Amino acid sequence: MQLKISSLTKHYPGVAALDGIDLDIASGELVALLGPSGSGKTTLLRVIAGLLHADNGQVLFGDVDATRLSLRERNVGFVFQHYALFRHMTVAENIAFGLRSRPRSRRPDKATIGRRVQELLQLVQLPEHGGRYPDQLSGGQKQRIALARALAIDPGVLLLDEPFGALDAKVRVELRRWLRRLHEQTGQTTLFVTHDQEEALELADRVVVMRNGRIEQIGTPDQVYHAPASPYVFEFIGRANVLEGRVEQGRFHCAGLQLDARDVADGAARLYVRPHDLVAADDADAALHGRVRAVHRLGGRITCEVEVDGQPQALEQESFDAGLAQAWSVGDQVRLRPTRYAVFP
Ligand code: ADP
Ligand code: MG
Repeated sequence: MQLKISSLTKHYPGVAALDGIDLDIASGELVALLGPSGSGKTTLLRVIAGLLHADNGQVLFGDVDATRLSLRERNVGFVFQHYALFRHMTVAENIAFGLRSRPRSRRPDKATIGRRVQELLQLVQLPEHGGRYPDQLSGGQKQRIALARALAIDPGVLLLDEPFGALDAKVRVELRRWLRRLHEQTGQTTLFVTHDQEEALELADRVVVMRNGRIEQIGTPDQVYHAPASPYVFEFIGRANVLEGRVEQGRFHCAGLQLDARDVADGAARLYVRPHDLVAADDADAALHGRVRAVHRLGGRITCEVEVDGQPQALEQESFDAGLAQAWSVGDQVRLRPTRYAVFP
């Protein structure tokens, strides 16, 4: 099911939770809504689900204007951060719930529901767990059952609001990879809310970066990571070094460095560069001159703090080695250049 959102606004006293949202999601796409707490992600999901009415704007499911349709009529699947499983029902009963509570005319018979439940248990890889109660499951298993329950009604759109947010880091990583594989099997149009950049980048076909009820950038994970549209996106997605400098006639100048910045107007400007995109410069290169202040080793990842002439903040330079590479030492004089960067006025 294709989803089209246009000009959605939702105001609460003193805050625009949604401030003019336009978003098209193709059928079968997995899109991550990424933003800090309070940026409007849950509000957007609730409006799409029909749990909340927007002040203005439109939500289209395929060609159908859903703006006035009820929750049930929209046929969406929803999973929240906190396990919303019914504790007094078995896993199988939980999964069957959406089908059983359909009006009689559209309700499948008992045997069909039973088969569907077993299929879904297979799909979420918990085939033996139908007779258990939610309290007898781990957190990760509960969320897989919540997903099976959401899928039971064969929803046009699947809406997931920080579904792994309450789980510990290792389980989260496993589950997001599992969800990606599941998505490749089901091809369900999915909107996945998260405030975790890595989760969004690893999981989604496209990432929507939100800020204060607005969309700051929409792009593939590579686009938002390597070609951020604004300083906000640069700093929110991954780590960033920021250097103060000037643009003159299409060139960015800072300390000994000169870079192409032909799209930026003359004047004060900032260079944004990720720690792993800073490398040792060759002798011939125009480069930043600095001194290594600290070296941190974390397994194969080496992070150097480098003080650069004339800059208020030390830079972080990151490299990876297989155990043999010679790293810099504290006190070394070094020359750095960015392999990838952005300049913003
Ligand atoms: P997110 O899910 O990105 O953390 P939300 O969509 O929950 O953000 O909230 C967006 C903004 O709207 C926040 O400033 C929040 O405080 C406000 N907000 C959300 N729901 C309500 C409500 N029922 N009443 C008043 N303000 C709300
Ligand atoms: Mg939220």
